[in-house]
Amino acid sequence: MIEDTKKRIVVTGAGGFIGGCMIANLRAKGYANLCAVDRKLLTEWYQCFDDVDNMVLDLKDMQNCYTASQGASDVYNLAADMGGMGFIEKHKADCMLSVLISTNMLVAARDIGVKRFFYSSSACVYNADKQRDAHVTALKEADAYPALAEDGYGWEKLFTERMCRHFREDFGLETRVARFHNVYGPNGTWDGGREKAPAAICRKVIDAKRRKTGEIEIWGDGEQTRSFMYIDDCLKGVQMIASSDILEPMNLGSSELVTINKLVDLAEEVGGVKLKRKYNLDAPKGVRGRNSDNTMIKKLLKWEPGTSLRDGIAKTYAWIEEQYEARLAGKRTVH
Ligand code: NAD
Repeated sequence: MIEDTKKRIVVTGAGGFIGGCMIANLRAKGYANLCAVDRKLLTEWYQCFDDVDNMVLDLKDMQNCYTASQGASDVYNLAADMGGMGFIEKHKADCMLSVLISTNMLVAARDIGVKRFFYSSSACVYNADKQRDAHVTALKEADAYPALAEDGYGWEKLFTERMCRHFREDFGLETRVARFHNVYGPNGTWDGGREKAPAAICRKVIDAKRRKTGEIEIWGDGEQTRSFMYIDDCLKGVQMIASSDILEPMNLGSSELVTINKLVDLAEEVGGVKLKRKYNLDAPKGVRGRNSDNTMIKKLLKWEPGTSLRDGIAKTYAWIEEQYEARLAGKRTVH
C-alpha cells in the first residue's frame, strides 16, 4: 500500500519524549503535513522542527482540542501528565486529570472525522496482584481485568482505553491502543523528578563519576524487576499497531526482564566504573516485578521489540552524558 505522506498527522505531547521522537521519525519518513502539540513553551520542547506546524495548547481545554485536530487524518494522542515512579506516586490527581485531554481529544476526533486515533496506554493498567513477586509471570493483555490498576495514573489509562473502545463501537472512530512498558532512550527526561529508572540510573552513574563520589543511591533493594523498551522499538510498534486492524489494547514492551541491580551493572559497564550501592528502602519503588508477555504481538504482528538493553543503555548513557556536560557548560539542555 502506498502511504499518503501529505495527510495531516497530529501528535499530542510532542514537546515531550515519545511525541518528540515520533515527530522526528515521521519527518524522516517523508510525512510533510505534521502538527505537533504540547502545552509547554516551545523553548522547553525536547525536539522542535521549523517545518512542522507546532502548537502550544493546553489540551485539557475542549476548544484547544478542536484547534489541534482540525483537518487531521491521524491523531497520536500521547499527551499526559506523567513521569517515573517518583512522580506518579505523589501526583495521583494530576495524573488522573489527563482524562480531560483524552476525553476532549476523542470528542474532537469524532466530530472532525479523524480516520485513525492512537492512544498510548501503559503497563500501569495491570492488576497489582499479578505484580507482587520479582520472579513475575509476564503480563498478558487479559491480566488488566479484574481491574486493580496503579492508583491514579493506571486507572486513568484503563478508563481511557475503555473510552477508546466505546468511541469505536458507538461512533465508528477507528481507535487503536498500545500498552507501553517502560520506554527509554535519547531525547527523554533525564532529570528534574519525572525521569524513569534507566535515565535516572545513567545520570547517577555519570554524576558519581564526574564528582568522584564512588557511590550511587538506588531506590528500593534493587531486586525489583522490570523490562525496558528502547525508543526505536516503541516508534516502530506504534506505527504497526496504529495501522493494523487490532482492536484490543496490546502490549508494546520488551520481554527482557532485568533487576534494577542489573540495570545499574549495565550503566556502570558503559561508564567504566564500579560504584558502592546505597539502597534507599523508603523511596518510591512501584510494583515488585513487571514484564511484558509478547505472545499476542508476536502472533498478530510477527514482531516484538528486540533492541537489547545493553545496546539501548549504551546509546542512552552517551546522550545523557552529552546533556550533563552541556548543562555544566551553561548550555541549553533537555530534561
Ligand atoms: P512526556 O512527559 O515526555 O511527554 C508528555 C507530554 O505531554 C509532555 O511534554 C507534556 O508537556 C504534555 N502534556 C501534558 N499535559 C498536557 C496538556 N494538558 N496539554 C498538552 N500537552 C500536555 O512523556 P512520554 O514518556 O513521552 O510519554 C508519552 C505517552 O506515553 C504518555 O501518554 C505516557 O503516559 C505514555 N507512556 C509512557 C511510558 C514511558 O515509559 N515513557 C510508559 C507507558 C506509557
